[in-house]
Amino acid sequence: MKRETPLTSREGAGGQDFNAYSAMQPRMPDVTPVEARNGARVKTANVPPEGVYLPNNNRLAPHMRSPEYVQMSTAAAITLGVMPGTMHRCGCTRCLNLLLTYPEGCRANCAYCGLARHREADRDYADRNFIRVDWPAVPMAEVVDIVARDGEKTPFHRMCISMITHPRSDDDTVSVLKAWTAKIDPASLPVSILSNPTTMGRADVARLKDLGADIFTVALDAATPEIFDRTRGKGVESPHSWKKYWEVLEDARDIFGPQKFGAHIIVGMGETEYDVLTLVQRLVDMGGHSHMFCFFPEKGSLMDHLPATPRDQWRRVQLARYLIDYRGVRVEQMRFDEAGRVVDFGLPSGELDDIIDKGTAFRTSGCPGKEADDVSACDRPYGDSPPSNVASYPFAPQAVDIRKIRNQLGHEKPGESYAEGDDLDPDNWTGAR
Ligand code: SF4
Repeated sequence: MKRETPLTSREGAGGQDFNAYSAMQPRMPDVTPVEARNGARVKTANVPPEGVYLPNNNRLAPHMRSPEYVQMSTAAAITLGVMPGTMHRCGCTRCLNLLLTYPEGCRANCAYCGLARHREADRDYADRNFIRVDWPAVPMAEVVDIVARDGEKTPFHRMCISMITHPRSDDDTVSVLKAWTAKIDPASLPVSILSNPTTMGRADVARLKDLGADIFTVALDAATPEIFDRTRGKGVESPHSWKKYWEVLEDARDIFGPQKFGAHIIVGMGETEYDVLTLVQRLVDMGGHSHMFCFFPEKGSLMDHLPATPRDQWRRVQLARYLIDYRGVRVEQMRFDEAGRVVDFGLPSGELDDIIDKGTAFRTSGCPGKEADDVSACDRPYGDSPPSNVASYPFAPQAVDIRKIRNQLGHEKPGESYAEGDDLDPDNWTGAR
């Protein structure tokens, strides 16, 4: 619940109520000293790993590599039982997110990302924060043994392998997937791939499908080609291209089929609401889904000086995206103002009220688990906001949360107003919605 520097506000960059393109310029990366490049510190010291490694920037990270080692989110490590801790208002995560790991780290330089290459001088790869949390490293064999031992009692609904930009990433993803399916039936615990299109071709996509992967996702992250280039292409000396990402996304559509592919989008990096919702519609028309993240200035990233997405912008996009993805509303039915903001969601107000009150639209979005098609297994607790000002709810929002959401949307009901801090009072954490 600690106060964090980049607090969200009603105002976006430049005093507007959204994060406009002109204000969301990443800073340029510093030059990394030669002795810190390519994981040189870790490789020179060559300290062998001893089981689970909990990130700690005050000591030297051991020399760990995939496929023998993988990193996982703090929530996944707590749920798996390899790390102590609890999460605010949610017991555990339903998605076991595994991240490939190497001393050289990710070779890309995406401006919003805590894993980016420019951080080499500052932190060893295994000690870098990513989506606001630490990522403990665990031997893959131990991960598989625990999940296989738990069988049907496992708390996880899905596993996800997150690739990074590294020359070994394609082959090691295959090895991690094979290690998993050797002991765990992917029909009972399905596997998603968060791909790295820059190093992949169509044959790589097909190979992962043949080996039992269920859903394939592409992290476009940026909603427009200009923002993509500025945040993860030439603008920050990073190797990715919008064109290549779309090629692989189209391969995924052909190979994995309807409802089995998707794209990640970060909201609030300079696009308009109209831009992002047009992209959401394009993905639905292709047969896929969008998985949304609210921009949060990750500490140490090239955008850590910029404001988080104002909550009203984020809530409008969350709601409209849910209507397009799961309620058959089309972007053409919605109306936008001159700044591209949603002013009409294209539904009668009674129907819209029911959907807001249900709360699902405001939960974390991603690949589905066992609860419902429109509820993500991948709940990423507090990956895009502090718990004190939740962006994506990692649990079903309760009555007090809906009051807060309505307040942020400017849709408060008479007699159900929200007062600052109501949702931080444990007495309000239960109750019918
Ligand atoms: S490719 Fe992925 S992991 Fe690497 S810097 Fe970009 S967003 Fe981060």
